[in-house]
Amino acid sequence: MDTLEYKRHIDAVIEKIEKARLHVSGHHIVKIVAVSKYVGAEAVRALYEIGQRAFGENRVQDLRDKSAALAELPLEWHFIGSLQKNKINNLLELDPFLMHSLDSLELAHALEERLERQNKSMDALLQINSAYEDSKSGVLPEAALETYAQIAQLCPHIRLKGVMSIGAHVDEPGVIQKSFETTHRIFEKLPHASICSMGMSGDYELAIRCGATMVRLGSVLFPAQS
Ligand SMILES: *Cc1c(COP(=O)(O)O)cnc(C)c1O
Repeated sequence: MDTLEYKRHIDAVIEKIEKARLHVSGHHIVKIVAVSKYVGAEAVRALYEIGQRAFGENRVQDLRDKSAALAELPLEWHFIGSLQKNKINNLLELDPFLMHSLDSLELAHALEERLERQNKSMDALLQINSAYEDSKSGVLPEAALETYAQIAQLCPHIRLKGVMSIGAHVDEPGVIQKSFETTHRIFEKLPHASICSMGMSGDYELAIRCGATMVRLGSVLFPAQS
């Protein structure tokens, strides 16, 4: 794909996002986080050059390498992967814009301890396992409101901004939709939450129609490499 073809491809994705957004409301804003985990720094730069600013990685090491390689660009880096406790300090060093994958009260306590010690704070989303899949991390929907409130109360260095979820890993759109609706219902009940991060390359239009305010798109934004 040359630059012009790539631009056209990205415009087509943005048009789909726009349609889904307007289906909700003209006031409904959706932010795109470009998930660059499959590609190198040069592909990130190519997407930056046609206007993208927010990028996400699911491994701390990759986040470190790519953000360092592109340090001269005004990029916003999101962390979207499972965080092992022994990587917490490495992540904090990178000062991510937003952590999407806070997936337990236990991890929140571990993060809070390091944040407090380093006199830092971090914006984060509570990850919800809305599809009830064993392979996924996150708190179960039944526990989400209480866990959110506990983190908000007990972890003052974590600034909770809302929720994140991965849609059900099935083919039936109805089942995927249900998982998004579950997440969105929880989102609506949270005090001061502004971000509902859900929707990936295969299901972002559906996620937006269900109320997503942030989508995490990987393969669809980096078609040549995936
Ligand atoms: C990889 C990943 C994505 C993007 O996946 P695509 O299907 O390539 O768009 C989004 N969210 C999370 C948590 C991921 O790990």
